[in-house]
Amino acid sequence: MSSDITTSEPGTEYRLVGNFIDGQWMEAREDASSTNPAHPSQEIGRHPVSTSEEVDRAVEAAKAAGREWRQTNLVERGRVLRQAAAVLEGRAEEMAHLITVEEGKTLPEARTDVSRTIDTLFYHASQAYSPAGKTYVSSNSAEEVRTVRVPVGVVGVISPWNFPILTPAWKIAPALVHGNTVVWKPASMTPVTAAEFVKVFEEAGVPAGVLNLVLGSGKVGGYIVDHPGVDAITFTGSTNVGNGIWNSATPRGVKVQLELGGHNVAIVFPDADLDLAAKTVVAGAMMSAGQKCTATRRVIAHSDVYEPLVERIKAETEQLVVGDGLAEGVNISPLVSRDALEEVASEVEQAQKDGAELLTGGQVLDGPEYDGGHFLAPTVFEVSDPEIRLCKEEVFGPVTAVLRAEDDDEAFDLANATRFGLCAAVFTASERRVRRTVEELEAGMINVNTSTTGSELHAPFGGLKASSAQAPREQEGEAARDFFTKEKTLYVVPGD
Ligand code: NAP
Ligand code: MG
Repeated sequence: MSSDITTSEPGTEYRLVGNFIDGQWMEAREDASSTNPAHPSQEIGRHPVSTSEEVDRAVEAAKAAGREWRQTNLVERGRVLRQAAAVLEGRAEEMAHLITVEEGKTLPEARTDVSRTIDTLFYHASQAYSPAGKTYVSSNSAEEVRTVRVPVGVVGVISPWNFPILTPAWKIAPALVHGNTVVWKPASMTPVTAAEFVKVFEEAGVPAGVLNLVLGSGKVGGYIVDHPGVDAITFTGSTNVGNGIWNSATPRGVKVQLELGGHNVAIVFPDADLDLAAKTVVAGAMMSAGQKCTATRRVIAHSDVYEPLVERIKAETEQLVVGDGLAEGVNISPLVSRDALEEVASEVEQAQKDGAELLTGGQVLDGPEYDGGHFLAPTVFEVSDPEIRLCKEEVFGPVTAVLRAEDDDEAFDLANATRFGLCAAVFTASERRVRRTVEELEAGMINVNTSTTGSELHAPFGGLKASSAQAPREQEGEAARDFFTKEKTLYVVPGD
C-alpha cells in the first residue's frame, strides 16, 4: 500500500491520509475529516480513526525495530535527524502553509514553527557530542565504576494541535536520537500536517518501524497509554487528560512526561516601560489567537500605573487585525474549531456574569466577510474579583484579564493564586524587584520585560505546580536524555 499524500500546491490541498506503520503507509480511510478554521467548508483532509488492533501493530513494529535502532551508533542516529532537518528545510514554505490552513495560525507564525522545528531536529542531532555517563573512583583499584544510559524502549508520543510539528519534534527528535522507537498519536485537528511531518522522517531514511503514526481521536491515545508494550509516554495537552495518563501509566512503571495547562501572569510595576509592557502583554495574550499554553492569561497592574496601562492595552488590542491566517497583515487567526470557539465564547459570557468588565472585544465575528470561520474579537476584561472562573481556569483563546494590585506583595499573591505554574512575566526597571520576582513567583519559566514564553529550544521548558509532571523538562538536551534513557551503574573488573 502506498501513501495517498500528494505534494499539491499550497491552497489546493485535499489529502487523504493513512497511518504509517512499520515503514508502510496503510490504507487511507475517510473516517474523520479536518477542515480549515478560517473557511470551515474547505476540507483539508480525511484520516482513519485507528482501532486498538492498529495501535497493537504500531507498538509491535516499534518494539521489533528497537533492537537494531538502539544498536545503531548515536552519531548515525543523529545523522538521520540532520537529514530530516534538511528535508524539512527544503519544503518549509509548503509545511508552513499547511499548518496555517489546517490549524489556523497566521502564516508568519507557522513559518516560525517550521524554522524552530528544523533547529530542534539539528539540536537533538548534536546530542551525540555531549558527554555520556560518568566515571567514579572505586575502592577496588582493579575495578572501574561508571554509569551508562540505555534507551527506554517504545515511546508513546501524544501531542496537541496548537504546535502541530514543533511540539512533536521536541519529543520525537530526542526519543529517536537516544535510541528509542516511537508510536505517535497527533491531535485529531491536525492529522494532515502530522502525516506530512512523518513523510519528512521517511524521506530522511528513518528505518521501518522506528517512527509509527496512528491517527484518530483521544481514544487512540488511550490505547497507547494502556498498551503493555509502551515503556514511556510523553504528552502535551490538557490537564485532565494528562492527569488521567499519569494515574493510569505510572503505577505500571511507565515513564511519563506531561506538559499541561497554564494560567500565565504578567505583572506590571510602576517603574516599567508602559509602552513596552502593553505591547508585549497584548502580543503574549493574543498571538496564535491565545491558543498557546504560555499565553498571558492575566495582567496584574500596580495601582500607580493601572489607568495608563489599561488605556494602552485597549489601544494596542484594538489595532489588531483578525482574519484568515494566510492573508497579508492579519495578526489574529481563527480558533481551531467551532467547539473551541463556542467554549471560549461561553467563558466570555460567564466572565461577564461573574462581574468582569469588558474593556474591548468579546464578540464572535460572524459577518459574511468571515466565511463561517471560528473568529473571536481579541478580548480584554478588567476584573476586580480574582476568584472568578476567568482568573482560575485556562480559557484557550484570545482573552485576558487585567487586575489591580495595591503593592508588590499583593501583586505576587495574586500572581500565585492559581493551581498552574508555567510562565510568569514581570515588567520593571528595578534589579531588586527582579530578584524578588525570581524568589516569589511560582512558575517554571520567568520572563523579565519580555513575553510569557519558553521559546529557546535548547533551554529547559516546563512548569511548576499543576502545569507539568514531576519529570525531566523538555527541549534542553540533558533533560531530554534523562527522560529518554535509563541509567545503569556498571562495576567492571576487567578480565585478563
Ligand atoms: P487534549 O484534549 O488534552 O489533547 C492533547 C492530545 O491528547 C491530543 O492528541 C488528543 O487527541 C489526545 N487525547 C485526548 N484524550 C485523550 C485520552 N483520554 N487519552 C490519551 N490521549 C488523549 O488537549 P487540547 O485541548 O487538544 O490542547 C490544548 C491544551 O494543551 C491546553 O490545555 C494547553 O494548555 C495544553 N498545552 C500545553 C502545552 C505545554 O507545553 N504545557 C503546550 C501546548 C498546549 P484528540 O486531538 O484526538 O482529542
Ligand atoms: Mg481536547
